[in-house]
Amino acid sequence: MAEKFFWADKIADRIIKEKKRKRKYVCASGITPSGTIHIGNFREVITTELVVRALKDKGKKVRFIYSWDDYDRFRKVPANVQKDYKKYIGMPLSDIPSPFEKNKSYAEHFEQEFEEQLKKVGIKPEFIRQNIMNKKCRYAKLIKLAIEKRKNIMKILNKYRKEPLKDYWPVVVYCEKCKKDATKILDVKGYVIEYSCNCGFKGKVDFSKKGIVNAPWRVDWPMRWKYEGVDFEPGGVDHSVYGGSFSTSKEIVKEIYHGKIPIYIFYDWVKVKGGKEFSSSTGNVLTLNDVLEVYEPEIVRYLFVGTKPKTGFQISFDNDVIKIYEDYDELERRYYEKKVNPREKRIYELCQIKLSRKKPKKISFRHLITLVQTGKLKGLNKESKLRAEKVKNWLEKYAGEDMKFEIQEKIKIRLSKPEKQAMIALKQFLSTENYTEDELFNEFYNICRAVGIKSSDFFETAYRIIIGKTQGPRLASLILTIGKDKIIKLLEQVK
Ligand SMILES: [Zn+2]
Repeated sequence: MAEKFFWADKIADRIIKEKKRKRKYVCASGITPSGTIHIGNFREVITTELVVRALKDKGKKVRFIYSWDDYDRFRKVPANVQKDYKKYIGMPLSDIPSPFEKNKSYAEHFEQEFEEQLKKVGIKPEFIRQNIMNKKCRYAKLIKLAIEKRKNIMKILNKYRKEPLKDYWPVVVYCEKCKKDATKILDVKGYVIEYSCNCGFKGKVDFSKKGIVNAPWRVDWPMRWKYEGVDFEPGGVDHSVYGGSFSTSKEIVKEIYHGKIPIYIFYDWVKVKGGKEFSSSTGNVLTLNDVLEVYEPEIVRYLFVGTKPKTGFQISFDNDVIKIYEDYDELERRYYEKKVNPREKRIYELCQIKLSRKKPKKISFRHLITLVQTGKLKGLNKESKLRAEKVKNWLEKYAGEDMKFEIQEKIKIRLSKPEKQAMIALKQFLSTENYTEDELFNEFYNICRAVGIKSSDFFETAYRIIIGKTQGPRLASLILTIGKDKIIKLLEQVK
């Protein structure tokens, strides 16, 4: 059975075994939209989505939720946002304006950007905006409970702290006047909080009626496990370490909320190879869109599906891109020829947004590198055209110099006598009527023997004339792709 070999199926089995008798399983994922959502965060969503798919394939009903923690405070101005945003620090992300467009909030900007990207790889969770949940006072009861048991929560948190908390309120109030969280709780009676703020304001708020409070992360997380009945959620390394928020959340959900601990797995980070311009210090983080510029959606999925979440891996932007396309095409070919093993079959199917009945007809990435640079894109089918777009982007931004070339109009080099003879012989052969790529390739060696030139010299001369470089794509294929007429015209300049 394929299920035994594939990580998401194993997790699904564990969920079914440990969370018996559930009508509908809940798989959760989420992030604070504090800035551009990067590819490391994408790993969390796709990990969840694959488990959701595994559960569904076992005939289970599943709710796939994605939580936007947009009622969190704005902590830090990212490098790609204007500096004067400092003035919003301490306000909820949902309540400050977008740095990039009118009529949108800061949170909405980054949320919508990521939601659009997720659609492209076939991921469509149910999005929950926590600012709305909080403003509608949906968690009031659970927050009240946390306040009543704040001493117990403090004890749990202090187990893992070097410096113990002395006074702890599991709730944060956003000031009614300045909208910031620079508030201090003075007293709580039932649902009514009395608070003061750094801005000088003093107020009283009934948080069952006015949603200006938020639970801090370490209480918020277990509270929402309870509220939604979460059965599965993955977490990054920062949450997963000893004493991290998962350690405390599993104690809080049981002790304070009498709720269940979800099945939890840790996922490792994703690194970038060959994409020099990405760095978080410049705010230019690697996004799903950046990856989609070079990789087809199915291949983006392939990168993540094939690696267990706890294993770190690199996304390549250098010449390895060609190899990854080739590996994927090979898997695809064997899938449709029914030559895959059960694990490979499972991986291929989970890469698909919509499984095609027939093998998609696509030109290889490698060959498209030549087609794109020789401008021979007419007559390509839709799939190959889309792939050609990826090739273009890759050539423009990431490809090694050895992969780039330009067809020459004029011969710019001096040729030795045997080189001239060889090129004239080549021109003569090209002018004959019918030959295949193989026949042309064989002819190169016939010419070398006839004029007495080393084959390496022959190839180098031809490449220098045609593309102005000492090496390039397979020569016979290159000549036929460019078209023999154009090459003949070029070689006519040899005199
Ligand atoms: Zn204030």
